[in-house]
Amino acid sequence: MERYCKILEKRKREIVLLRGTGCAYKRCAFCDYYDDGREDGEANFALNRAVLEKVTGEFGELEVINSGSVFELDSGTLRLIREICREKSVSTVHFESHYIYRQKIPRLRAEFSGIDLKMKLGLETFDFDFRENTLKKGISEYSPEEIARNFNEANFLFGLTGQTLSSMKRDIDLGLRFFERICINIMCENSTDLKPDKDVIEVFMKGIYPAIKYDDRADILLNNTDFGVGD
Ligand code: SF4
Repeated sequence: MERYCKILEKRKREIVLLRGTGCAYKRCAFCDYYDDGREDGEANFALNRAVLEKVTGEFGELEVINSGSVFELDSGTLRLIREICREKSVSTVHFESHYIYRQKIPRLRAEFSGIDLKMKLGLETFDFDFRENTLKKGISEYSPEEIARNFNEANFLFGLTGQTLSSMKRDIDLGLRFFERICINIMCENSTDLKPDKDVIEVFMKGIYPAIKYDDRADILLNNTDFGVGD
């Protein structure tokens, strides 16, 4: 599995796919990639150290993902990330987190003081009913402002039956209003029962993509390996 890459479009940064204990939530109906986790903290640290050794700091910015939330990484890995940031002059680090960990974010920011942490929320959509009853995301909050509290960026998932041109546009509008940056993921075939809807994806490609693809505040992953990591 590829675990290191450089993102050379829009906001340039290095990206690493690390391994933690695995997603503590594991209930999102569209997700089957949380298998990349091990309870063995020493084995995780050894793997993560080998990946982090590739970081050069050339863009001053690093994105860290781990098929779950940053809070599932071992403390040694977090310490090593801080050391590498200092040594390689990385001033901005992006981490992902589920909403369940939101109250731990201020402490993480304090631990990374001097480094600009960009916390990315797996939100998928602002549509409460679709998010909670279809996607089973586990974010029991309606208010966009409250959802965005503690987070700087958000992931959205498009290309599913039930989504429309207006629902996707609304998500993008709200996403860009309440977050600094958004990442749009187009649903890809996987082992879950939720399947990509070709008609919805076509609506996105024709009605939204031409306008959003040049927006520096929006990353768009048409395939889930478009950042160059994963398999
Ligand atoms: S999408 Fe993220 S939070 Fe949801 S089950 Fe997958 S790894 Fe866990």
